[in-house]
Amino acid sequence: MTDLMPARVRFAPSPTGRMHLGSARTALYDYLLARRTGGTFILRIEDTDRKRYVEGAEEELIEGLRWLGLNYDEGPDIGGPYGPYRQSERREIYYHHAWELVERGAAYPCFCTPDRLAKLREEQMRRKENPHYDGLCRHLDLGEARRRIANGEKYVIRFKMPKEGVTTAVDLLRGEIHTANNVLDDAVLLKSDGLPTYHLGAMVDDHLMKITHVIRTMEWLPSLPLHVNIIRAFGWDEPVWVHPSVFLKPSGKGKMSKRDAADAMKDGYSIYLGDMRALGFIPEGVLNWIALMGWGVPEDDIMTLDEMIQRFDIRNLTPSPAAINFARLDHFNAAHIRRLPTEELAARIKPYFLNAGLQVDDERLLRIVPLIRERLVTLDDCLPFAAWFFKENVEPKPEELVAKNLTPAQSAEIARKAFEVLSGLPVLTVESAEPPMRALVERLGLSPGQVFGILRVAVTGQTVSPPLFESMEIVGKEKVLQRLQRAIEMLERM
Ligand code: GLU
Repeated sequence: MTDLMPARVRFAPSPTGRMHLGSARTALYDYLLARRTGGTFILRIEDTDRKRYVEGAEEELIEGLRWLGLNYDEGPDIGGPYGPYRQSERREIYYHHAWELVERGAAYPCFCTPDRLAKLREEQMRRKENPHYDGLCRHLDLGEARRRIANGEKYVIRFKMPKEGVTTAVDLLRGEIHTANNVLDDAVLLKSDGLPTYHLGAMVDDHLMKITHVIRTMEWLPSLPLHVNIIRAFGWDEPVWVHPSVFLKPSGKGKMSKRDAADAMKDGYSIYLGDMRALGFIPEGVLNWIALMGWGVPEDDIMTLDEMIQRFDIRNLTPSPAAINFARLDHFNAAHIRRLPTEELAARIKPYFLNAGLQVDDERLLRIVPLIRERLVTLDDCLPFAAWFFKENVEPKPEELVAKNLTPAQSAEIARKAFEVLSGLPVLTVESAEPPMRALVERLGLSPGQVFGILRVAVTGQTVSPPLFESMEIVGKEKVLQRLQRAIEMLERM
């Protein structure tokens, strides 16, 4: 079957901004198809739009792919047999190909000035027409055109779009798409700065790099007839076209805007990969989340990258747009955190403690991980649950030491009793401490919540913590008793 032949796929971002989850998902589908078919995953940087070029964006893209574990086989920083992989370094290739189309009669030099084009556009808008090039230079004599170029006149090269007939293109997810040629424009292929537009650059590179499948979001569908015509004018074979859907904002109404992105950030979410990482999302969770926004497998499947490779079938991508649902990101992130081996999770949360200025004892960290693993939605949740483990002293709020429906004096009395029980133990472990403490609760005729609540706040300094007895065992008898003693004094002073 053709879809199991080794595919050559490229992720071809433009370095024009920050890497967001839309690009990450395209890269993921590229990667999955390449790995599923034993093929090749290529990174190509499409940096020919110098006006939109953003310094540092390429580095961020590479960093993002690395973080996600989407390792490419050919790319600008690692090279490969079809390089260079940065379009700005392939200038001569495009120039040569643009002129090849001119020679074939499928393209032409155009000398219209930006001024003329602006006026043309204005008039067309006034007449309520779609702006398009009127074809003034389409019929210029080529010899004459060459003379004007030799004289130093500025020009672009435009595609000579057939004016009659229909272009039929096939998208793997959407089937045949028919477009009447008379609505298609004579698009610019080579700009006056000598660099190609996306239309030329991408088609030439996809051909020369032997790309078998082009996966790009459906925003590119309107350009598909043009692209198909360019490829046919060269006499090349077309790749398989795959245009997955775009993402919609969480409300499902329209595309995510800068403002929506800022709103998401306020809630601890982001559409930018770099932010997601800083917010404590893990690559496994992010990948699983974006994979299923546009891939028709049962909703709740928790999959690692390797498991996705096993199950990936490009024909199961869905053409309909998906609204971004951050609650599902939480769901997948938490699920993948739970799946991480203890050592691995310890290594991933350690930096959060260090950044909070805490000293981390690795052995203690390994004992804490099983206690908090189930409660982490993001990695940084480790701080509210477990930072106190690495503090010399905790600072309970006196009022939180007072048990529900009891007075400070009664709470102090309970704390003293607990102190007695715990100080009488030869060692403090879950097994040694829990039964006598439960017996104490019974004897006092109180609820476990009342008694253990006092203990929890005294020992951890907070009202929410990992399981109490396990935590006390890690803290150790001596410290537990010190903290309890201090709590008793605080309660007595109230
Ligand atoms: N450079 C284009 C973009 O960033 C790539 C589209 C494609 O994959 O062909 O949108």
